[in-house]
Amino acid sequence: MIGTVTVGAMDAWDRLLPKLRELRDLTSATALLYWDLHVMMPAGGSESRVRSVATMRGLLHQRLTDPAIGEALEELASTGSLDEDRQASVRVLARDYDKATRVPEELVRELAEATGRANGLWVEARSKNDFSIFQPILERIVGLKKQEADAVGYEDEPYDALLDGYEPGMKTSEIAEMFEQLVAGLREMVEPVVAAMGPRPEWLSATFDPAQQLEFSQWLVEVLGFDTTSGRLDTSPHPFTMAVAGGDVRQTTRTDPNDLLMSIFATMHETGHALYEQGIPEDLLDLPIGRVPSLGLHESQSRLWENQVGRSRPFCEFMLPHLKKRWSLELGMLDPDEFYRSVNRAHRSLIRVTADELTYNLHLALRFGLERALMNNEITVSELPAAWNDAMETNIGIRPPSDDDGVLQDIHWSMGSIGYFPTYTLGTIYSAALFAAAERDLGPLDDEFRQGKTKRLLDWLREKVHGRAYRLDAKDLMAEVTGAPVTAEPLLDYLRTKFSEVAGISL
Ligand code: ZN
Repeated sequence: MIGTVTVGAMDAWDRLLPKLRELRDLTSATALLYWDLHVMMPAGGSESRVRSVATMRGLLHQRLTDPAIGEALEELASTGSLDEDRQASVRVLARDYDKATRVPEELVRELAEATGRANGLWVEARSKNDFSIFQPILERIVGLKKQEADAVGYEDEPYDALLDGYEPGMKTSEIAEMFEQLVAGLREMVEPVVAAMGPRPEWLSATFDPAQQLEFSQWLVEVLGFDTTSGRLDTSPHPFTMAVAGGDVRQTTRTDPNDLLMSIFATMHETGHALYEQGIPEDLLDLPIGRVPSLGLHESQSRLWENQVGRSRPFCEFMLPHLKKRWSLELGMLDPDEFYRSVNRAHRSLIRVTADELTYNLHLALRFGLERALMNNEITVSELPAAWNDAMETNIGIRPPSDDDGVLQDIHWSMGSIGYFPTYTLGTIYSAALFAAAERDLGPLDDEFRQGKTKRLLDWLREKVHGRAYRLDAKDLMAEVTGAPVTAEPLLDYLRTKFSEVAGISL
């Protein structure tokens, strides 16, 4: 009897494997089209490229929902003879398949059409500072996302269904608890830290040649361990990282002649994403588990390299002489202490993407609260601008003078990405918990960082996180690596210690 089951299971697995490889190849081709759209191609081709990408996504959806995959999964689910990686693969693929088949094609098409129109309206509303231009299409998108949540299904609240698309296995209530703890801690810190910051250092306003900034970034990514024989660094207006295929991980950064720090930390951020992708074991890439488990965990790596490494005092000390070599005139007089304080300068700001490490997550708490309230029918789209401004005042202590610096600042809702924002904060929470665990295992890393050596940390991340791929959901992997369920406490500890030092006060 057992023998028969095993043979059947192997049959089903053998039938599944070529389909998985095909899904992988289609994903890879789509990724390359997307990368090229944002990095290389002439603007004239973008309209037809957007269509090609949509066609490829449709094709991927079709192949993923192939009933033959459902049948193979059913056979495999009832067998106990699969090894661990195949069992995990069946679990992950079954979830993908289930979700993809639950959302009716008509709804997928309507969402694609609405979000396709929304981008232009959002751009126009923002440039004219007029929310009423964006409001009707946003109402349509929110309505469709509610339908999507109903189609996918949820236990407690509709937001769970959307969140699960970015952070599988995580509940809204769990995120809400972390946010509550985090916001309470952050609000206590913002006032005294910002008050102790002093004026903006003059050197930040100097001009830095963009070509030289890119050259510095090329050097920096290699220092951090990014393998340039299996990856590339280019520039794009919005930095991103894309794993095109095994041995081909693309990352981008951006340069602005008047903002050297933005370029450095965009590069360190994306390198964190890219190192993660380069650390997924090659032999798993064809399997459903051969990927990063969640956006939050992906973001944990970018935040860790950007903040815990890049913005640390020892790493700043390491970078400064290398920066001075390139910009002796602009940075010649800068001492390490001033550089470190400039890098970590906290201030109240209206805009999330330029927010500092301390206030950043308060911007995200605001978005999470509003999205959840929208999905629970506690507020309407027309009430969003006022609700946004009120929350800014409560969370950050300033009120946006206009909607282009308020509710209209992010592209995400125009793309239908509701449930995405909290993964940024989750990533930051994960990054602090992981770094604390790394220091527990490895001992202090300061001396190495001061020499630009990060290999011991990278090796630890490879073993504990990257190499595990999607064998576990992010929150389970985190609990396993750190030895406890994740909370916001390690992040608050880290921020208290750091900003006490930066601001010269006791938090
Ligand atoms: Zn990121």
